[in-house]
Amino acid sequence: MPPIQSPKGTRDILPADMAAWDEIYATHARVAEAHGYRAIQTPIFEATEMFERGIGAGTDIVDKEMYSFETSGGDRLTLRPEATPATLRAVLGAHLDQERRPVRVHYAGPMFRHDRPQRGRYRQLHQIGVEAIGERSPVIDAEVIEIGWRFYEALGIDGIDLQINSLGDLDDRRRYRQMLVDFYTPHLAGLCDDCRRRIEINPLRLLDCNQDAHLAAIAPPASNALSPASSEYFESVLGCLRDAGITCTINRHLVRGLDYYAHTAFEFWHTSLHGAQNALGGGGRYDGLAEVLGFPATPGVGYALGVDRALIVLQDAGAGPAAATDADVVVCSLGAESVGYAAALARQLRAAGHRVILDAAERRLDRKLRNADRLGARVCVIVGDNELAARTAMVRDLGQRDQQSVAVDAVNNTVTAILGCGGEGDK
Ligand code: AMP
Repeated sequence: MPPIQSPKGTRDILPADMAAWDEIYATHARVAEAHGYRAIQTPIFEATEMFERGIGAGTDIVDKEMYSFETSGGDRLTLRPEATPATLRAVLGAHLDQERRPVRVHYAGPMFRHDRPQRGRYRQLHQIGVEAIGERSPVIDAEVIEIGWRFYEALGIDGIDLQINSLGDLDDRRRYRQMLVDFYTPHLAGLCDDCRRRIEINPLRLLDCNQDAHLAAIAPPASNALSPASSEYFESVLGCLRDAGITCTINRHLVRGLDYYAHTAFEFWHTSLHGAQNALGGGGRYDGLAEVLGFPATPGVGYALGVDRALIVLQDAGAGPAAATDADVVVCSLGAESVGYAAALARQLRAAGHRVILDAAERRLDRKLRNADRLGARVCVIVGDNELAARTAMVRDLGQRDQQSVAVDAVNNTVTAILGCGGEGDK
């Protein structure tokens, strides 16, 4: 029987890689919380209808990429392809916007899209994001963008290219849709199948097509459809970014795949990611979304950043944290009699805050020492029959390669002194 494989487009995150993942999640939480954003979690699966309404027909996500299923009770559910609609549902459903406006939240977790897997594109992908719900202001748009910018800065990722555009309000977008329909209609016969459908149901998405990119490049820019008020809003966002020292590229064809964006749309690009996978993350203002989900009209702005792609950029740059070691201390028993004594010592050391592995295997001491090295430990505590009888332990500094016999009560202090950091280990 062949061994079971992981599903296509999914990856295991093995222990050696966890430090890099943890750092990304912790850095994002730290930067978001420094701006007053609080953590939120929503379910992994949601009503299919929420995504159909909230993301919209004519988007690749809804048309092709959702993992949807029907339960035996007849509920239509979908593994979340993104977190914005659910976050808005959760915040407005709990009336958090009545306590404070905007409600500032950040999230992290896996999303699911039945996409064609390749480097930087997975079927289980991981995103971190923020949402600011309840206020329409250029200052908030710029605040959200700045959090993303500072996050990449804190991770040490250079070369971020912030692409930004404005899609205006509902009327502007309606005008812009018509402009695109007028522009693309004479080229209808030469369009790909997807675009022939998009022109009917979601003309903005025509600009996202890779096959018809030559047309997108000469299509009318979104700025042609902006009202003076919308242009002023966009200028204010750009002004706030300038004041924050954040550079950006105005990209008049950036529309983002999703239906509900209004005004500001942006993406963080990076040169080390190529082709269609060059976006590290993106977001924008989604003032129409709350109503589409059945809530009172409530403005919002946010972003989602790809964790998988941030990792690729860090790895390509040879950056990122060193892999964590397994433990600081290995307690080795020599002989069956001393196992209980060794286990008690291990427990005592853990209670003092150390990371400790008990090696009770029946093997020679030199093998145990080699194993402790492999685990990344700095200290070995060795006990055999003699130590058990005398209530002592041999504490060996694996870096200095020297050892001392100490009384059981002195083991914690001796180990702490060797590790030199009062408990946590400094690896
Ligand atoms: P989106 O909202 O679709 O623009 O996604 C935001 C970010 O999530 C993208 O810029 C990517 O970094 C990441 N992302 C989206 N889809 C995938 C995927 N299939 N695999 C890996 N990362 C993805």
